[in-house]
Amino acid sequence: MAMELPDQRLRQREYLLKISRAITAQLDLTSVLDLVITVAVEMLAGNAGLIALSEDELGTEPSMPPPPQQIYATAGIPAAALPAFRHLLALPIETLGKPNASAVLREIASETGLPLRQVIALPLTVAAAPVGTIYVFRAALNVSFNVDEARLLQAFADQAAIAVSNARLYQSVLREKQRLDAMIEQSADGVMIIDARWRITTFNKAMEQLTGWNRTEAIGRPCAEILGVRDTQGDNICLVDCPLQRRPPLNNPIVEGWLTSRDGRERYIQSRYAAQRSSTGAFLGAIANVRDITDQKREEQLQSTFISVISHELKTPVSIIKGYASTFQREDGAWTADAMQEGFRVIEAEADRLARQIQDLLDVSRLQASGMRLELSDWALPELAASVVQAFAAQTHDRFTFELRFTDDLPPVHADYERIRMVLTNLISNAIKYSPHGGRIRIGGHPMPELDQAVVYVADQGAGIPSEEQERIFERFYRIDNRLRRTTQGAGLGLYLSRAIIEAHGGTIYVESQVGRGSRFIFTLPLARRQITGETV
Ligand code: ADP
Repeated sequence: MAMELPDQRLRQREYLLKISRAITAQLDLTSVLDLVITVAVEMLAGNAGLIALSEDELGTEPSMPPPPQQIYATAGIPAAALPAFRHLLALPIETLGKPNASAVLREIASETGLPLRQVIALPLTVAAAPVGTIYVFRAALNVSFNVDEARLLQAFADQAAIAVSNARLYQSVLREKQRLDAMIEQSADGVMIIDARWRITTFNKAMEQLTGWNRTEAIGRPCAEILGVRDTQGDNICLVDCPLQRRPPLNNPIVEGWLTSRDGRERYIQSRYAAQRSSTGAFLGAIANVRDITDQKREEQLQSTFISVISHELKTPVSIIKGYASTFQREDGAWTADAMQEGFRVIEAEADRLARQIQDLLDVSRLQASGMRLELSDWALPELAASVVQAFAAQTHDRFTFELRFTDDLPPVHADYERIRMVLTNLISNAIKYSPHGGRIRIGGHPMPELDQAVVYVADQGAGIPSEEQERIFERFYRIDNRLRRTTQGAGLGLYLSRAIIEAHGGTIYVESQVGRGSRFIFTLPLARRQITGETV
């Protein structure tokens, strides 16, 4: 019978303290269990011991029947001897101490050469559920395990169970964190987390795409450096008016503005913040949800341009017409026939302009709703060009000379006559509008038989178009911001519609130009299918 001596109890307490310190100091389950079993063996004057845990212990699914156990920690048992213990682990604890168990022990002893003659085992329980077993073996046959020793082992079993429970919690926190990390990483929105010093700690894939920064460089930098969106004055909002530093703090601050990405792209960004604060209100960090709303912003800008352009463009001819109409109505007015004639001519021209503008607007909205339907037929381009030029030549009073330069080998085109008339009208009208000093306007074309296409151009000697504007002028409502913009009328729809018409024919349209030298608009159209000339026999 082992007597409990005072210094033994003292050691026991010291050991338990050491174990509980180890539990709080480290999250590594195996090393805590190693400590528990080593001390348990020593305190119970055993010569070997082991801790086995249910195999799915660190999983979450409760399984029935109890899953097989796996050895996690041992004391006094060489690794090579471990397989010999499998029968023992399969035995229910209650049967240990019974003859059957002794037979199993003898088998293990003879298989491993270890002097194991007695065993004491207790379940490890977490929240009343068994999660594993602690075993201590002794070589002596004469002194068997008593109640006090069972109680002592229980103390160790409890410690081991706490370690298992901690590891379980740790694992589930880890899994949760991995799940969250994956969600943040895969989020279609940019997600960025910053710490209490406004330094970036998390930066997902969408943020990399949005800002052009890769995360290894972005992490650790101040958020204002990476996400410095500009206000209307061009200042970095995050530096001049950080929404997270307002007093009193804003609830869910939002920042919007243009951002130049590291690779030079201009994006309109909306960033929503959720700040974390301590109970005293100190800033602890924030998570930012960042969206690229460039398309939406451009659409909004277009809408407002649309309204201002339309109201201006439609009001101008209406007020001119109204002006003439009310002047003619005045009873005191004595109008010469010529003056009347001129007045009516202006009214007619302005009414035509109004009708054209309305037609353009209808075309634009139809185009957006259902694309463009064409009425295709085969016809000759030079004739159409000549008739459009004739109409303009009559109005420009010798300020311009027009030259038609179509090669003789140009076959008919296969295209929508009225729509191409509109394109040519637009291009020639622009050539006139944007050549303030007049000059020569050349319209020509030639075939490209290998592509089954005709190439057509309208060239002027006017103001020209800077290269950075040469694509943008084909956008809806886009007008170059220069002096001519103020002195000429236009809604910025002509080239947009012209491109839509040419592209609906499967052609392309672009401009070659030099500022001050003039512009050449070039487009292609499909040629009419060659007629099959059959020979009669
Ligand atoms: P609008 O003439 O009504 O403004 P367009 O779509 O026809 O609209 O043209 C868009 C812009 O492209 C014009 O405002 C002008 O700034 C520029 N542009 C078009 N054609 C010429 C040209 N031949 N020479 C110089 N600038 C041009």
